[in-house]
Amino acid sequence: MSNKKLEVIEFSKRLNSTNLSPLRSGNISVRTQIEGEDGFYITPSGIKYEDLKEEDIVFLSNEKEYDFLKIFNSGLNPSSEWRFHQDIYKNKREAKAIVHAHSTHATAISTHRKPIPPFHYMIALMGGEDIKCAEYATFGTKELSNNIIKALENRKACLMANHGQIAFGDSLKKAFELAQEVENICHQYFLALKLGQPKNLSFAEMQKILEKVKGYKKG
Ligand code: 13P
Ligand code: ZN
Repeated sequence: MSNKKLEVIEFSKRLNSTNLSPLRSGNISVRTQIEGEDGFYITPSGIKYEDLKEEDIVFLSNEKEYDFLKIFNSGLNPSSEWRFHQDIYKNKREAKAIVHAHSTHATAISTHRKPIPPFHYMIALMGGEDIKCAEYATFGTKELSNNIIKALENRKACLMANHGQIAFGDSLKKAFELAQEVENICHQYFLALKLGQPKNLSFAEMQKILEKVKGYKKG
């Protein structure tokens, strides 16, 4: 029995139970190795999380293009977003797990296709002085994956235009928590925007905070 597969199932269910991503939306993966091959376990496409079984979790290599048609009839397909999961693992050595969610406020803010400025110091948790928004591209495409890699430069999370958000971490627990933080920040930003244009923290203040959060929250 694979602990990593069980972890993917546990956190997939939490996508629904914590309301981070409704119904079949979103996807989750964890980095792993099978017989020396680097890759990741990922949720299957279009399956209700409450129904997931261990054998439904798909392994994909980091080195190969996934051939959709080859296993089309011989099991469940991996998440339609396997490309950006694969590209994040290839580009970010520190990424051990990835959570993609259509959380309500992050998705609403993503339709503005703008970075979230430092209206709150917790923005620093995502790695920089703002949260970028990946340019729009059709779900499941290499173009979307390329846009996401760009938005994740020096960051651990980003919005995806007219779609949702992504967070990664050195464990699934941390990636999931970060996705929850992104949603909280977007909720606060959404409320702040209702009152007009919020005042932002200065670049210098954010640099100070970025230094401070390096040592914060180890657990
Ligand atoms: P999958 O079920 O294929 O993972 O799709 C969900 C999703 O959020 C696509 O962006
Ligand atoms: Zn999605």
